[in-house]
Amino acid sequence: MTDLTKVKEWLKDADAVIVTAGNGMAKEEGLDILSEENFDDEYGKVADKYDVHTIGDALDKKFDTWDEQWAFWSQLVNEYSFEYEPSETMLALKELLKDKQYFIATSTFGHFFENAGFNEKRIFNAFGDWTRMQCSSGVNHGQKDDREVVKKYLEGKGEVPKCEDCNSPMELHMPLNANFFPDTDAICASVGS
Ligand SMILES: [Zn+2]
Repeated sequence: MTDLTKVKEWLKDADAVIVTAGNGMAKEEGLDILSEENFDDEYGKVADKYDVHTIGDALDKKFDTWDEQWAFWSQLVNEYSFEYEPSETMLALKELLKDKQYFIATSTFGHFFENAGFNEKRIFNAFGDWTRMQCSSGVNHGQKDDREVVKKYLEGKGEVPKCEDCNSPMELHMPLNANFFPDTDAICASVGS
């Protein structure tokens, strides 16, 4: 991508823009799941007990109890999503797309684009979104916002959320195991409108 003038022209003329964003964008927004920097300092208990030293490894790990799992997830959601501030890149992207029809397909799961103010109906989170949760039974019992659960954990009053259909513990809406059902609402909504 050397000739940016051309890119600018294309963007100007485009009726609609499709944005794809992966790990690089997540890093830009502060979340580097492969980095060992600061992990042991911030999540010492988890690092010692489970011998994991990156967020990615910790997300892959099945903890001994759901309570531990939610306590840890809540810390992550708080640090990277509740306390999120859009990067310069994100703000620049918003500016670029402000008068455009757009659709965003992303494998970042930190709720960045939603938090930055993009239209939620125009975002497809291919790898889910950790501000949402799903049933851990393996049956698709839908997904729900988990931010109230996270807030309770941060206040020290957390309780493991249970599925309303089958009473199984809920887990993050991410492809951490075979239970993941991608959110197809965004795609249907944008095709339909
Ligand atoms: Zn269920």
